[in-house]
Amino acid sequence: MKTYTLQDQTHAFIEASPQKFYFNGEWHASEKTIDVIDPATASVITQVSLSQPEDVANAIGSAESAFKSWGKTEPSERAGLLRKLAELIRRDLPILAELESIDVGKPIGEAEGFDIPFAAECFEYFAGVAEDTEYEVDLGLELTDSHTAKIPYGVSAFVFPWNFPFCLCAWGIAPALAAGNTIVVKPASETPLSTLYLAKLIEEAGFPAGVANVLPGAGSVAGEALISDPRIKLMSFTGSTEVGRHIGEVCGRNLVPAKLELGGKGAAIVCSDADVDAAVEGLSGALLFNAGQVCCTASRWYVHESVYDEFVSKAKAHFESIKLGRGLDTDSQMGPICTQKQMAKILECVAEAQADGAEVICGGKRPMTGELSQGFYFEPTLLAGDDSNKWAQEEIFGPVTFLIKFSDEEEVVERANRNQYGLANSVWTQDLAKAKTIAHELVSGNSWINAHNVFEYGLHYGACNQSGCGGGVNSRATFEGYLRQMSVAARR
Ligand code: NAD
Repeated sequence: MKTYTLQDQTHAFIEASPQKFYFNGEWHASEKTIDVIDPATASVITQVSLSQPEDVANAIGSAESAFKSWGKTEPSERAGLLRKLAELIRRDLPILAELESIDVGKPIGEAEGFDIPFAAECFEYFAGVAEDTEYEVDLGLELTDSHTAKIPYGVSAFVFPWNFPFCLCAWGIAPALAAGNTIVVKPASETPLSTLYLAKLIEEAGFPAGVANVLPGAGSVAGEALISDPRIKLMSFTGSTEVGRHIGEVCGRNLVPAKLELGGKGAAIVCSDADVDAAVEGLSGALLFNAGQVCCTASRWYVHESVYDEFVSKAKAHFESIKLGRGLDTDSQMGPICTQKQMAKILECVAEAQADGAEVICGGKRPMTGELSQGFYFEPTLLAGDDSNKWAQEEIFGPVTFLIKFSDEEEVVERANRNQYGLANSVWTQDLAKAKTIAHELVSGNSWINAHNVFEYGLHYGACNQSGCGGGVNSRATFEGYLRQMSVAARR
């Protein structure tokens, strides 16, 4: 097997095994550890200490104490620290990209070009928003001399999934910290490395002890301790709909507001007048990005009958040309699936879809020979059939999409909307007026035109239905969501 040399600093970081977790400005360990697995080779990268309920309780206590002063800092002070953190992320971009690549399995170019720099930009964006916000808004009322004061909540808890550990963490914590909250973060225990490295940079940037705390741990142990602690004042969860529903229930009992960013089954509608080459390229790129482990990707492709055959043959050629390989190999266009469990789930979904009548146009299996057979790889897969198939409607979370032929544009919008989720859809047509009409009719947090997976700071990314509630990320509204509103009034 080809060997890859990590940079000295990346190597030194993973050598410090078991990795400790970070709270109250100090590094702590527990007796329980977990192996962190490289999905490209199924080998152990390092071990990580798993935080226990008492660690989580202590971390929340330190975040509560730190809030007393952090919550009163000037926005410019918080912005300065966030910008410093962004600078350190950019300085260590090669290390962070390597960690993300070996931990998640993603091509190093994706980590270098998207995950890490886009996260740095997030801290800068919310630094600017914090400085540019009016925290006392005079109401100009007749009977009272009154204003609205915008105040941080206090301790904000975060639980993240394994697919984009670094970027999703930034999307969550940057607005919370910028608004003056303190944070306790539980990354997924499958992919904790870049978040632990971020904790090192948070320490180096000079955030006061207790302001930001990072504790990997099992969902059923550390996760439960975090979500059920009545001292948390705001909960932010990114992950599956099933776990999100549970977290919503637990927080509901404590009357803690919960922001839930959950799963999806995005639809793409390729109209008769679409630029077929652009649609094939755009949708394939969106689906195969991060090996399809993207909540907002389109994995139901409704293609008009007049362009269906052309579209399918071009998409098949594209999928079959994708070079699978280790993330650290710069030639790889798609890496392995992040975990063995997820790979096994994808295999099962494809088998069930076939049993339910779907045709496998290409892919549908894992490579069983050579180097790739040692990792958790899965071939880019095109299924075709009827949208009554369970796996045309349920999230698979892998490089698998379902092709569905349609003939009537009005009817297809209704069919696309029959799905339980509501995260992100796209419409592909050269008629922009029609595109806008369809984009508005699709029920989701995000409707994209002639593109899929569109992100820019300032552009709100949210969800509806079973894809989540209570928030969204990446915009000024997200920042405002981390501030509670208090009315201050005196009778005139
Ligand atoms: P998951 O729900 O299984 O786990 C997410 C996190 O929750 C992990 O850190 C896990 O340890 C923790 N957890 C599990 N049980 C818990 C409990 N009882 N209490 C507290 N924490 C608990 O999701 P996953 O498999 O890691 O990620 C994949 C899912 O995430 C997909 O459904 C995907 O669509 C979704 N996702 C959504 C978004 C979004 O922005 N909407 C982004 C990325 C991923």
